[in-house]
Amino acid sequence: MTGVDLTTLYRGPLASCDYDCPYCPFAKRRDSPGQLRADRAALERFTGWAERQTEDRLSVLFTPWGEGLVRPWYRRALVALSHQPHIRRVAIQTNLSCRTDWLAEADLATVALWCTYHPGQTPYQRFLAKTHRLTELGVRFSVGVVGLAAHLEHARRLREALPDQVYLWVNAAEGHTYDDEEADAWTELDPLFPYSRHPHRSAGLPCRTGASVISVDGGGSVRRCHFVRTELGNLYDGSYRAALAPRPCPLDTCDCHIGYVHLETLPLYDVFAGGVLERVPAALPATGTRPVPGR
Ligand code: SF4
Ligand code: SF4
Repeated sequence: MTGVDLTTLYRGPLASCDYDCPYCPFAKRRDSPGQLRADRAALERFTGWAERQTEDRLSVLFTPWGEGLVRPWYRRALVALSHQPHIRRVAIQTNLSCRTDWLAEADLATVALWCTYHPGQTPYQRFLAKTHRLTELGVRFSVGVVGLAAHLEHARRLREALPDQVYLWVNAAEGHTYDDEEADAWTELDPLFPYSRHPHRSAGLPCRTGASVISVDGGGSVRRCHFVRTELGNLYDGSYRAALAPRPCPLDTCDCHIGYVHLETLPLYDVFAGGVLERVPAALPATGTRPVPGR
């Protein structure tokens, strides 16, 4: 079998979180011990698969519903996969509530974090100190916030305190529309905010998912992305492989960064070259400018 370049977004059964964000269905949810065991077993199965795919060049992003890094099996997976020569990047979305010392064990050329700051869930200074520790350790990471009005001052304070080389992204809040004044305020902080402001029309457009990007769940079901439910096959019996092919998006819109970043009609593979999964731009955009979001 010929090797391929494959980006894999993994989301297992974990659905619990140590935070209580008012905008999240997983806030303070608990998984039973049985559910946690199942999540661990599913993650270890996936990690084993990824370790054996030595013919491929893999990039992996863990996108748990809840918080993964408070669970040791996610930390172990990041460290183990980071040391595999055929794995180019392994990253995870996290609220950064976890310890950071374990990252010293990882290959820092491969591991990366997509961190979200949730004001109201963690003291500002504690979160900031975590980001400073990541910088000291030499970990690649981005930091972001949900663009709710109540978060604006927190985001401004964070932007000022972060080193210039750390990108701060802003996600449009789900179901929220921004007037130009509000959008400008967020764009001052994140010049790439215009990409997030509105859902992207995607129907019939070419998207890399299903060809060089796949979504995998805990049972190994492979879909093109987290948003299109049609299955392409299973990871563990290899049946997904024959289904990898370019295909247009079947949905009307795509409104999540982990989806539309792969749309071929957007220039985001160039904008985030080398950091697509952890949302780190190739060159930091100058704050206060506004790019044209190619739609
Ligand atoms: S940290 Fe993330 S998963 Fe946890 S409650 Fe907040 S938004 Fe939800
Ligand atoms: S554009 Fe978004 S919804 Fe459509 S296939 Fe790509 S990732 Fe999935």
